[in-house]
Amino acid sequence: MSDIVPASADVVIVGGAAIGSSVAFHLAADPGFSGRIVVVEKDPTYARSASALSAASIRQQYSSAVNVRISLHGIDFLRRIGEILEVDGERPAVDLHEGGYLYLATAAGAPVLRDNHRVQTAEGADILLLDPAALGARFPWLETGDLACASFGRSGEGWFDGWGLMQAFRRKARALGVVYVAGEVVGMERDGGRITAVRLADGSRIACGTVVNASGFEGRRVAAMAGVSIPVVPKKRFVFTWHCRADLPDFPLLIDPSGAWARPEGRPGPEGRLYIGSAGPAEGMADPEMDPEDYAVDHAFFEEHVWAPLAARVPAFEAIKPGRAWAGHYDMCELDHNVILGPAGEVRNLLLANGFSGHGLQQAPAVGRGLAEWILHGRYVTLDLSELGFDRLAANRPVLERNVI
Ligand SMILES: Cc1cc2nc3c(=O)[nH]c(=O)nc-3n(C[C@H](O)[C@H](O)[C@H](O)COP(=O)(O)OP(=O)(O)OC[C@H]3O[C@@H](n4cnc5c(N)ncnc54)[C@H](O)[C@@H]3O)c2cc1C
Repeated sequence: MSDIVPASADVVIVGGAAIGSSVAFHLAADPGFSGRIVVVEKDPTYARSASALSAASIRQQYSSAVNVRISLHGIDFLRRIGEILEVDGERPAVDLHEGGYLYLATAAGAPVLRDNHRVQTAEGADILLLDPAALGARFPWLETGDLACASFGRSGEGWFDGWGLMQAFRRKARALGVVYVAGEVVGMERDGGRITAVRLADGSRIACGTVVNASGFEGRRVAAMAGVSIPVVPKKRFVFTWHCRADLPDFPLLIDPSGAWARPEGRPGPEGRLYIGSAGPAEGMADPEMDPEDYAVDHAFFEEHVWAPLAARVPAFEAIKPGRAWAGHYDMCELDHNVILGPAGEVRNLLLANGFSGHGLQQAPAVGRGLAEWILHGRYVTLDLSELGFDRLAANRPVLERNVI
């Protein structure tokens, strides 16, 4: 981190976690770019950034094709991260474990699961549909009596070290000359349809050519500094941990029809295997915009909405030892639970990357590459992400994503 704030930069990135650092890396690594990139990060410990608090999992099981394409690039990137983000002979490792996602459906959910499966396989994702007999044979520790079918990611899905991914992007970006400044962006100067400078809390000012809003759940506040309104709000989510001594072979990232989910973490130890899991808000439960300063964990939520449905699904979970838990905030896009990406309407040199709604870590490679392409070429080159653009807000054209966890 630099204490000296540069007076100008070609590109200023607000927020230096996974998304900001991915944009910085992809742009700095492009031989066609020779400008100066400054990343402004208000909390260099990243203690509250979603990138540090994430469940760090990646799936191809989306209902919208663009999200499948984004994650297909994400898994390819994670598999090759050592060579791509190597610095001075040191290759980052993110412990990618392709354990698969297992979505379970009752008769009510089966048609949606089958529709989604068609979208996913048409894009080349390696997802299997399983009937209850095949499901029970493959995962004998699972209660399948009420299920009609399931979909399982045979490859290309799993979990990894999210903190490691963020730090690897950051380290490589810095090695390529990107300057990281510790500071908070508190204002923007706008001349017509252009941002001309960002202002920092310490009174300094950085004149700039392009600004990227990678400020996570604070994205709405940062966009408002440019006079741009986006429907992105902080929504609190919990992650709980527990140990279970039972041997549950090939445990994937399991998603129960109730909305509860669980996956293993690391290797078994003396207390058994560690699991992490949680649930989205139950049907009918309020899911209000949260005070982003609120990180309190509701342990009763675990008992009622996580443990109870999971123990009914995986009877071995009746005997667990609960462990620590934490809360973080999704940057939830209220229109359609998908990121708002690219130029902010009439403010053409403000690029948004806000509203990831709980799946931004796995999207960091494709989004970083996409925004770097946009800055260099004024368009997406490798993967067309334009349907996720800001224009869909005014047009009320949601990119509906039915699989939000
Ligand atoms: C509990 C939980 C579980 C999740 N699980 C998954 C998962 O399994 N898979 C997945 O893909 N995604 C998951 N996500 C979502 C994922 O973590 C986020 O989408 C992703 O990390 C967003 O990255 P980001 O860089 O945009 O935002 P963040 O990581 O939140 O970083 C934003 C940064 O901007 C900085 N900042 C904010 N305002 C300013 C300012 N004014 N000036 C300077 N700096 C500023 C902040 O300090 C912060 O470091 C999860 C999120 C949570 C909370």
